[in-house]
Amino acid sequence: MLLVILLCLEFVLRLVLEVRECRAVQARVNAFTVMRLIPLVNDIVPLPENREQPQVGNFVAMHEEGHKMLHHSILRNLVKVAIALVAIWFLAALMVRWQANFVEAVLWLHLAAIPFRVFFHFYCWTQEYEADGYALKKTDKKIAKNALQELARCEYPHTPLFALVYREHPTAVLRKKRLLNK
Ligand SMILES: [Zn+2]
Repeated sequence: MLLVILLCLEFVLRLVLEVRECRAVQARVNAFTVMRLIPLVNDIVPLPENREQPQVGNFVAMHEEGHKMLHHSILRNLVKVAIALVAIWFLAALMVRWQANFVEAVLWLHLAAIPFRVFFHFYCWTQEYEADGYALKKTDKKIAKNALQELARCEYPHTPLFALVYREHPTAVLRKKRLLNK
């Protein structure tokens, strides 16, 4: 019963988030919007990031070099493995200790994973900001500003809250604000 209540609560909260997003950025309602509301489906539905392929320049190249130099992908994978281990332990505990059936266990895991997912996105965002900082040092303010403006022009706009729930990347608008204080 508690499981059903929590799943309904999740649905309502996600619906509120979608409505808020539609109002804030004039986003269009599409199949993805509906898929994001359905528990489990929303774990695998992709979020398209760009409406147009941005022209990549030196700043983006240096940003990628920054990821490499700072060993971001290894760290990210370690965090993923740690979260996966916790997930397996949680699933096993639900089925063995609390005698949940498989479907119930998976639904509980889906709910428990939501804060972990947000935390993981937050962790990825800190890496993105670090890589931006690296790229800024290797280029200059003007190049960074132009590059982030180009990225912002090409990507779908999102509010920070929506991006934190669904994206591993902060929006270009947030990155620009963070990097250049504007
Ligand atoms: Zn990056």
